[in-house]
Amino acid sequence: LLALSSAACGDSERDGDSGTGAPAKGFAADSLIGVALPSKTSENWVLAGDLFTNGLKDAGFKSDVQYAGASTTVADQQAQISAMVTKGAKVIVIGATDAAQLSTQVKAAHDAGIKVVAYDRLITNTPDVDYYIAFDNFKVGQLQGQALLDGMKAKKATGPWTVELFSGSPDDNNAGVFFNGAMDVLKPLIDKGDVIVGSGQKDVKQTAIQGWKAEGAQQRMDSLLTSTYTAGKTLDGVLSPNDTLARAIITSVKAAGKPIPVVTGQDSEVESVKSIMAGEQYSTINKDTRKLVAETITMVKALQAGNEPTINDTKSYNNGVKVVPSYLLPPVIVTKANAAEAYANDPKLSPLTK
Ligand code: BGC
Repeated sequence: LLALSSAACGDSERDGDSGTGAPAKGFAADSLIGVALPSKTSENWVLAGDLFTNGLKDAGFKSDVQYAGASTTVADQQAQISAMVTKGAKVIVIGATDAAQLSTQVKAAHDAGIKVVAYDRLITNTPDVDYYIAFDNFKVGQLQGQALLDGMKAKKATGPWTVELFSGSPDDNNAGVFFNGAMDVLKPLIDKGDVIVGSGQKDVKQTAIQGWKAEGAQQRMDSLLTSTYTAGKTLDGVLSPNDTLARAIITSVKAAGKPIPVVTGQDSEVESVKSIMAGEQYSTINKDTRKLVAETITMVKALQAGNEPTINDTKSYNNGVKVVPSYLLPPVIVTKANAAEAYANDPKLSPLTK
């Protein structure tokens, strides 16, 4: 526990907190905990839902775990959070489908004395978010940028290397953070001319894939290949923010009959781990969902007991209104070289690395 965070938490809206510095009250051990997840845009979200349902039950809570639908994601999630407020949840854990569109709902939660935890994705432009728990997303981007360089260097020792850049959905706050992390590593090389963005599309807006959709990435890659990589021009690497998009990019390149460039990823999805072991996708990131959900439940238990949850970062994640006290876990880069070690304690992935 950081002394700092208990001071930061002396908010007046806590039930029964007389403001005398006495510890704030918790809530009943069998209370309802709401979990509002985005649509199932990658395997980690599917897994998280199951883990929350089982883990909250094992911890003695009632749970209400919901996913935003596939198309009307924002309205779905807003309605689900409002319903959790009405049902009397004590904590609402949110993986935001659109970072900036939840301020009304989280304000209603706060007005009802409910704690709001942003899970994996930050909720922006509101004071009504108490904690953020995630793998360090900026670090994820840096690891992706570095993996892209390492992979290209292994194939061709000196530059310039020609690349294309992809980023995630613009409504997900993580997309920009991943991209900025990667550019923190790549930009100095782009500025020097050691790394060339073949299409010239370097802006997060030009590279974004709405809704993290595989089709969107495949289409953009198809058009980049026809616009920029005709007449024997080589593409050395592609910065892909996650595994779903990485596989779509590889599908596009293969369909065009071109050699597969170095392609990064994230999430350790089964098909991508197979692709890495087969020498196609170059890298992914291991963000163990089992760990993130377990830490989130630990946070909920601390709140239940009336304690301040453990926070390890009070400066990195500014949501536009405040710096949200965060608990950040370290992401791990995975390539064929360290896959066996990285997934050693993962019964689903470990056999794929043998
Ligand atoms: C998550 C990534 C995931 C992406 C698409 C992001 O917010 O952090 O792990 O790949 O959403 O689902």
